[in-house]
Formats: sequence, C-alpha cells, structure tokens
Amino acid sequence: MGSAPAVRLVLRVSGIVQGVGFRPFVHALATRHGLKGYVLNDTGGVVIEAEGSPGMVDRFLERLRAEPPPAARIFSIDASRQEPAGYEDFAIRHSVTHAGKDVPIPPDIAVCEACLREVFDGADRRHRYPFTNCTNCGPRFTIARDVPYDRPRTTMASFTMCPRCRAEYESPADRRFHAQPNACPACGPRLALADRAGSPVPGEDPLRRAVSLLRDGRILAVKGLGGYHLACDAASDRAVTELRERKRRRGEPFALMVRDLEAARRLAHLDGAEAALLQSPARPIVLARRRADAAVAADVAPRQNYLGLMLPYTPLHHLLLRESGLALVMTSGNLHDEPIAYRDSDARERLGGLADFFLTHDREIHVRCDDSVTRVVLGREMMIRRSRGCAPSPIRFPFEFARPTLAVGALLKNTFCLAKGNLAYLSHHVGDLENLQTLESFEQGIEHFSRFFDIRPGVVAHDLHPEYLSTRHALSLEGVERIGVQHHHAHVAACMAENGLREPVVGVAFDGTGYGLDGRIWGGEFLLVGPGLLERAGHLQYVPLPGGDAGVREPWRMAVSHLANAFGGDFAGLPLPFLGELDPGKLDLVRSMLLKGINSPLTSSMGRLFDAVAALAGIRSLVTYEAQAAIELEMAADESAEGSYPFDILEGGIVDPRPLIRGVVEDLRRGAPASGIAGKFHNTVARIVAAACDRIRAARGHGKVVLTGGVFQNTLLLRKTLESLSAGGFETYWHHQVPPNDAGISLGQAVVADWRLRCA
Ligand code: ZN
Ligand code: ZN
Ligand code: FE
Repeated sequence: MGSAPAVRLVLRVSGIVQGVGFRPFVHALATRHGLKGYVLNDTGGVVIEAEGSPGMVDRFLERLRAEPPPAARIFSIDASRQEPAGYEDFAIRHSVTHAGKDVPIPPDIAVCEACLREVFDGADRRHRYPFTNCTNCGPRFTIARDVPYDRPRTTMASFTMCPRCRAEYESPADRRFHAQPNACPACGPRLALADRAGSPVPGEDPLRRAVSLLRDGRILAVKGLGGYHLACDAASDRAVTELRERKRRRGEPFALMVRDLEAARRLAHLDGAEAALLQSPARPIVLARRRADAAVAADVAPRQNYLGLMLPYTPLHHLLLRESGLALVMTSGNLHDEPIAYRDSDARERLGGLADFFLTHDREIHVRCDDSVTRVVLGREMMIRRSRGCAPSPIRFPFEFARPTLAVGALLKNTFCLAKGNLAYLSHHVGDLENLQTLESFEQGIEHFSRFFDIRPGVVAHDLHPEYLSTRHALSLEGVERIGVQHHHAHVAACMAENGLREPVVGVAFDGTGYGLDGRIWGGEFLLVGPGLLERAGHLQYVPLPGGDAGVREPWRMAVSHLANAFGGDFAGLPLPFLGELDPGKLDLVRSMLLKGINSPLTSSMGRLFDAVAALAGIRSLVTYEAQAAIELEMAADESAEGSYPFDILEGGIVDPRPLIRGVVEDLRRGAPASGIAGKFHNTVARIVAAACDRIRAARGHGKVVLTGGVFQNTLLLRKTLESLSAGGFETYWHHQVPPNDAGISLGQAVVADWRLRCA
C-alpha cells in the first residue's frame, strides 16, 4: 500500500448480481488490488466494503463497473467513502436474507469458456460431462422452483454433491463458489438414451450412440435447457423432410445449431452485430441472410432469404456438434401449434411419434422456456421472441409504475408482464393461447413470476377482445382493478416505453389483427399516443374480410376483397392469372359473401393488404403458418426496385388502397415479375407511412414517429419506411428489446394502464 491514508469504500450494487458469479468476482478483484473488507448478498443486491489506498480503491471501483461477470447486469452502484474499519482480509460473508424477495432470478446462461475447456480436456474430471457449469454459466431460471435462488429450491435439490463438488461450492476463491447447479459425473445428472417408446437403449455411452444416430439421419428428441428440441442432420434432405412431415409443419423455417461462428459464417452472411448476438450469453437464434451456397437441405427454410442460426449453449450441445461434425436442425419439440414439451413423461407421450430416439437426462426442467429469436436491422438488434437467456431479466425504465401491475397480453405469441417500481418483468414466450395446455402454462407462469419477484398486482391490464383467453383470465380475477387496453394502443406504448418516450407521438401500428375501439378489426393504424392521449388520426380503409378466420388462412380471399373494392363488380373479367387459378365455385361464394356482406367483418389490417398483394402476385394463396404470405412477399421482393404505386389519403386520414391495387393489376397485365411488384409494393407502403405522418404533422405538429406491430418485423419494409420518414424530417423509433409483434403487447398494456391510473 502507498503512503496515503487508507479509505473504506462502501458499495451497494443492484441489478442481476446474484447467481451470476458476482461475489467470487468481487473477491478476486479486491484481492488483486490488495483491498480488505467483505462482499455479501442481501435482498437488495450485493453489498461490498473494500478498504485500502485511495488509488487502489478507485481502480477497483473502475474495474467493477467496466468488467462485471458476463451474465451480470448492474443497474446501479451507490458508493460512499468512510473511515477505515481495519479489516484484516477480504471475505465472502454469509448472505443476509430477509423476507423480501426482490432480487431478480437470472436467466439461463450459455456455458462459459472455462467450463468448456474442462469438458474437452481428456485429463479433467469433467471430461465430456454434459452438465458442467459454474457461477458464470449454466441453467438458472428454468431450474428455479422458488426464491431465493438457492440449490434446495432448484431441480438440483435431489442431487447430493460429492466431496469434491462440495469443496468447490464452499470455497470463495473457486469458480464454483455457490454455483447452485454445480455437478460432476460422480454426483450430478446423467444422460440416457431411449427409443421412441421410452425403453432405455442399452450401451455405455448414450452420447456417442446419439451422435451416430444423428449421423445416420435419424431424428432425436434432445432434452435441453428450457424444453425438448427435435434434432436431425441439417444437410440431409431425407431427414429434414421427414421431420417436417412428422411435425406437420409445412412451411415455417427450422432453426439450426452450428458448432461455432466459423460454421455459422459458412451458412450465412454475418455482420459484427449479428456475430456478437450469436456469441452473447443469451445465445438466441439469430436470423441472418443465408449464403447462396449454404449446405443445408432445401426443406430447412423454404422460400426464405434468412436462416435462423444459433450456437451451442450447453455442454451437451457442444458435445453433440463437435462429435457429430454436423450442423443440426434444432426445432422446438412439439407438434404443430402445441407448446414445447419439457416434462419427460409429456415429451415421451407427445414426441414419441415425431422422434426416433430420445436423448434425455434426469435434471428436471421446472419452467418451460423456448429459444429466443432476434435479428439485426441497420446495425441494431430487433428482438422477435424474447425468451430463453433473456427472461426473466427485467426491462428497466426511467419511470416508476404507479402500482404493481399484471398485464396479460394478447392471443398469439402470448407473453404476460408483471411490473413494479421501475422494472417490468416481461415473461418468456408462452405461445398461442388457443389450447388448454398453453392456457395452463400461462396461468402457472403468472403464478411463478408473482412469487419469484414478489409482485401482488392490484391492477390487471388486458386486451379489449372479449374472447381472448388472456382477457377471460383477467376478467376472472377478483379484488383487482381491471383496465382494458386497445391492441394497437398497447403496441405503440410498448415501443414508446422501450425508447423512453413520454411525449405524444404518432404511432404507426401495422399488424394482422387487433380488436378496435369500434369493434372492427384494426391493423393499419395511425394513432396519436401519449399519457392520457389516444386518438385515431388515420387508418387503412376498411375492406371486408370474407369468411373471417378463413380469410386469414386463405389470402386469396383478401385479394378478391381488394379487387372488388378497387374495380367493383366486374373485377372477375380481369385477365389475371390469379383469378384463373381459383376454384370457380369458391370464387362465386366469396363474391356473394362480399356482395351481401355475409360473414365478412370489416378490417383496416395492413397484414391483410400484404396477404392480398401476395396472392395477386401469385406468391401465395393459402398459408400454413401465421403471416406466411406477407413473409414470402418480403422474400420475393426485388430490394432495388425503384418505383411505387399510387395511393390516396382521404378525409379523416383514411388511406385508400384502390389506386395501389389497380397499379398492381396493371403491372400483372403487363407481365411484370412478382419480384418487381413486391418491391414496388414495399416502396408504396413506406411512402404511405411518410405521407400519412406528414398530414398528421401538418395538422397536429407531432414530429416523432413510432413504428410497431408484427408487420414491422419485415426488415425490408422497416428500412424503407425509416428512410422515407427520415427524408421527411421525422424522428423515428422502432423496437429493439421488446418484440414488435404481439409478444410486446403485455408490456404496452402495463404502460397504458399506468398512464390511465396517473391521468384519472
Ligand atoms: Zn462456466
Ligand atoms: Zn460431484
Ligand atoms: Fe398485434
């Protein structure tokens, strides 16, 4: 120590700082700087006292801020300097636990480099051990049964640590100090291989056997962190097509897992931001532009310009990928629209017809958690599904929620949200709330989060759609204040919140379906939104949706509806290939539905306009998954197409699509290719947004524009729209941490409910 008198630094660190190796990190850092004192966990986070020379103390604090452990997230550090207390060493002290439970449970963390080195070191006692972890890595959220996060309250409770693991667990200097899932081959979970009926496959080494099955083109159900995957050789046409048929998943792309970044680069073009996301501790699926020469089966991602790629995130994944030398399809273990299987018995029952074999283990998954999905647009992340590796890490806001709030979300891609103080706990992906299993998982999830984060909501926010199971759940709760929030209002509020906006904005909310204030199906909305403000400043013109849900599954119906809207009754005489391919009986039926207004609710949906154009251009007239036609229209688009179609904006900000539809028909008659039409259509929608916002700005003076709703997952549209808005001098905002699709609705509901409580 220098000659300057010692000082004592007292720190209180809040954030995600427990269960992520924070205390051993502080211990090592303090020791390296020759400081004395202690570190401990308490209910508010981590408390540190460190004394020594002023220079060393300063450097210690600098390093603490600059390079915390990879999975930690520091929200705040309160620091004060006091008289030295005369500590003799630096100690990790016992946790001070109170009844309060507001220390966040960390998300699951990808296996760290240090653990991987052990797994691939022939001399290490954890050589090839698939459940290796330490305080910097491993399962967290998916094994936690209760708080505080501690081994007896995880699904590791049934495994008793061997003396060597126990010694690591108890030694403050060890990387495994208080690593709750700590395990080794002598004491921890074990792999097992079973056939599709669940009978064990005899043999010494389930891993080696699984690898050879994968190499033989078999389909394996593999138990992961948050559920089962279905895995097969991504380069095998036969295996991938077989998997697609068994899953009854017709067109939706499969995610791939590859062994490392280099392997990812052989399949897709990756920029710096994409590479960083692939390697981040959350290990999401990253949608990246596929290489023309990517060696994967055609059926992996039909008609897609992007591949969903992820890197291994458990030692088991690393072992499977390295030992097989394959790129693997790793798609969620479920049939069609069901939730992903995560319990062993349930997996056997539901996946028995899908997988040839099960590679499983005896560490129970307590919380189902699907892989996260993300992408990069203009150098910035845009989350598509915020789940494993992200949830339940809260989103922090520069404002406080007035009261603890539960928001139950929408119908498809459901998430819920619990908000308290300045934190919003946005749930993992629950799924489409259309069956009993998903509903149960939704209700359990809410119960779980309430307990984990000690939030007893007095306010419950919900969608206005009376039939959504989420709405019904909200309406069944007693003793709470219920607040209904319009769907697109919630979309806009979610985007505002994550961008820290409180002042009124023009919210452009484009999606497939949302219940409107007038009871109609909204989805092409220009809303003025702020605390205490909601005004519909414009929208896409209403057109009938022939057959309701059938009109969503069959985009050709929307094309017919838009043709009838643009041309009147005589559209059937138009020389369009699209019309020639329709079943005349069905066409007549839809025409008479439109004529008589039978079962044809009105919609202003932008998603349905994409459907209509996709069908007209001959790209897709029936869909097998949500938004398929719109996605394929984006994929087909010539991104360098220059022109656009005409449109009108009528009184009341009504966007009239008839000139656009006539323009598309004109191009079709001239034999223009679908790629050019798709490109011009994207340009047109971008110009519509800029023109509508211009009109609103002229009348009302709002210059900030928020782009939200599932349609803005379309990166081509998003880029073009941002361009035309910037050219018009607007300040633009879009989604990053919170998905633009309905997974973001719950957060928006919570925000709107809060505004309403404050403005009441
Ligand atoms: Zn580790
Ligand atoms: Zn052990
Ligand atoms: Fe929506």
